[in-house]
Amino acid sequence: MVCFCFLVDQTRKVRKSKPAAGTCSRCGGGASVADMKTATRFCHVPFYSKSWKAIICTFCGAVLKSYA
Ligand SMILES: [Zn+2]
Repeated sequence: MVCFCFLVDQTRKVRKSKPAAGTCSRCGGGASVADMKTATRFCHVPFYSKSWKAIICTFCGAVLKSYA
């Protein structure tokens, strides 16, 4: 029995971002609006990816708010 945790992995990339108003609730760093791309891989073969927008912290990378 093989655990799926070892076969499926997900990577999150910031394609582009620009400064936005607001600060991070975790570290107080500056926020920015970012175009995100999430790629899901199964056995290291990409099979699903989606693009989404989010407000992220430029300092710690926390997602403060996301848009579908
Ligand atoms: Zn932060």
